Amino acid sequence: MSTVQRIKCGLVNCYIVSDGDSAILIDTGKKDNLDTVVEACKPYKIKLIVLTHAHCDHAENAADLSEILGAPIAMHKDDVNLIESNNNQSLSARVFLGKIILSASLKEFSRSKMKAFTPSVFLKDGDDLTEYGIAAKVIGLPGHTKGSIGIDVGGKELIVGDALMNMFYPTVAMLYNDEKVMKDSAKKITGLGE
Ligand SMILES: [Zn+2]
Repeated sequence: MSTVQRIKCGLVNCYIVSDGDSAILIDTGKKDNLDTVVEACKPYKIKLIVLTHAHCDHAENAADLSEILGAPIAMHKDDVNLIESNNNQSLSARVFLGKIILSASLKEFSRSKMKAFTPSVFLKDGDDLTEYGIAAKVIGLPGHTKGSIGIDVGGKELIVGDALMNMFYPTVAMLYNDEKVMKDSAKKITGLGE
């Protein structure tokens, strides 16, 4: 049985999914959170760093953590162009709150200089992570970004990155690269609980 531990990193969360000593780290937070994440990972042998998507608030520490923890980086290939710049995939919002968050996010993206890295594992819908010592699989959740993925932990817990958001209230992603695709992914998540 794999367990999920949340590491709070400001507005985003990172997660450690572990089974005994073996663990994967999901998302990496912003630079300010590097020490917190390293500390949380200490009790484990981190076998893989998974990015739910490559926006800087989730991926900024990927290069450093890969080196510190000695773990490869895994993500969906459709987000690779975001490593260079988070402006490489357009982002839109419709609702009022979404527009406010969008403008703040775009400012943050333009300030962020993410340290370049090359993912060594590409994940897609249906991939199984048992070879990394935990019972989990990958769910494709495109829409927020083209390569957004979620991690289904033993059919009990689902880590969705920004495919769903919970800033002031839980909602589908308020920012999206493709609204229709994003909504289909949100429906897919709802269907998983049935
Ligand atoms: Zn995002």
